[in-house]
Amino acid sequence: MKAPAKSSGSSSPAASILKPSSGREPGAAGALALFSLLAEHDHEQVSVYHEPSCGYRGIIAIHSTVLGPALGGTRFWSYRTDEEALVDCLRLARGMTYKAAVAGLNLGGGKSVILGDNRTTRREALFRAHGRHVESLGGRYITAEDVGTSTSDMEYIKAETNHVTGLIGKSGDPSPVTAYGVYRGMKACVHYRSGSDRLTGKTVALQGCGSVGYHLAKLLHAEGAHIVCTDIDPQRVRRVVEECGATAVATSEIYDVRADIFAPCALGAVINDDTIRRLRVEIVAGGANNQLAEDRHGDLLEERHVTYAPDYVINGGGLINVNAELHGWSPERARNKAGEIYDTILRVFEIAREERIPSYQAADRLAEQRIATIAQVRRNHV
Ligand code: NAD
Repeated sequence: MKAPAKSSGSSSPAASILKPSSGREPGAAGALALFSLLAEHDHEQVSVYHEPSCGYRGIIAIHSTVLGPALGGTRFWSYRTDEEALVDCLRLARGMTYKAAVAGLNLGGGKSVILGDNRTTRREALFRAHGRHVESLGGRYITAEDVGTSTSDMEYIKAETNHVTGLIGKSGDPSPVTAYGVYRGMKACVHYRSGSDRLTGKTVALQGCGSVGYHLAKLLHAEGAHIVCTDIDPQRVRRVVEECGATAVATSEIYDVRADIFAPCALGAVINDDTIRRLRVEIVAGGANNQLAEDRHGDLLEERHVTYAPDYVINGGGLINVNAELHGWSPERARNKAGEIYDTILRVFEIAREERIPSYQAADRLAEQRIATIAQVRRNHV
């Protein structure tokens, strides 16, 4: 199994495989490319479904069901090409396998995409068609919300299948659990650097005061950390300043703040060539997805002796919350499970040290080890 690539879209090497080579009949070349694409990262299955009556066009990718049913949200997006949609779906499904594996959950990785304009108001037929698509896989794939979809869309899906989570009135907003996991992961990073995990007196540069950022700020403040924060939304900044005694800076200045920890809780790709040379911190630990613009930026952090908590490990609380809904866990149990991110982050650093690899690679190793071990156990003890 190869680690999830950071790049996406038609510029990725995987996408180029899809392009029919000149001189060949396009249909034949496309079919051939589809299977090489699946083989490239060991995807188990791809399902494509078209419902002309409502214009539904959807793809479900199942990367792995070794640990359990493949879970991953439904993304509703207007892709430039069908190929771009497929590659995005495959890439996201693979990422879910790794995220569930390091979170210690009995879930595999999958994802689905609906191709089209997500601002449409004609949603019922579309999402019920998607629900039927999900149902046709018999529980091998479980869906949830993602970009372009909402809890009310999940209710339409629920009318056609039980293999859906993130419903109205169920597990609810995952961000408090995510923030708690980030907080625990941050403490593990501080412990790794200094031998003590106390955040009292530490300065945290917080990028993004939204759902995760706000809940994280509350936890940091309660422990006596000083917060320097930013957001493009002044009201969100004000809330953190007033409730947590934070100092506000302009969005462009957050990378230059002298702090112990930089906590990205807004956008992806914020660790890049420009920002790495500006960061004046010992630790990068935050909730945002896809923080490294490219893998090599993880190597660059390592070279600069900056401890990086791999994003998909430290922000696993959101997935833990979804898993809690699936299995009827109490909020306390979900929170305790997110608290285990502390030990997982330390294990990642241990692997990194033992194998002399950067932490982002060590996280992949940890996920792959768990999947391989469980696959072996299941083969041996039927
Ligand atoms: P959110 O939309 O509630 O908050 C994001 C905040 O970032 C907003 O307040 C927004 O104004 C701000 N922002 C946008 N651009 C900015 C910029 N250039 N500079 C500073 N601030 C900017 O989202 P969230 O749920 O808090 O999620 C934050 C990140 O964590 C995202 O990357 C998300 O994918 C990831 N994540 C969230 C969860 C969860 O449970 N919500 C779980 C896992 C990962």
